[in-house]
Amino acid sequence: MNYKDRTGETVAAADLLPCTVCGTPTAPDSLRYYGARCFPCFQAYTRTPPKTDPRMAGVIADAGEGPLAWARRIVLRVQRQVDPPSRGALATAREALEQHDRHRRQASE
Ligand SMILES: [Zn+2]
Repeated sequence: MNYKDRTGETVAAADLLPCTVCGTPTAPDSLRYYGARCFPCFQAYTRTPPKTDPRMAGVIADAGEGPLAWARRIVLRVQRQVDPPSRGALATAREALEQHDRHRRQASE
């Protein structure tokens, strides 16, 4: 069995890899192009609006405004377990907030 991929090239059945969503045998080039999905799954994915935790609105409101709002959001997301960010993101956020506090303390001395 041969399969034509999106470029029109014929791909041997043995070279096909399963789509990570539905398992349909798919040409490796297509998987690379569509984020490890077959084209129908890619289309479905792009039509689905990203899921947003309803508590995220509270996190955004409580983090407030200003240049460090992003860092306060990350810390709040961890505290409230709303879409927890990566460890790296948390470390960066904490560092930015600590640095800001240090500068503020030094300025008030
Ligand atoms: Zn699929």
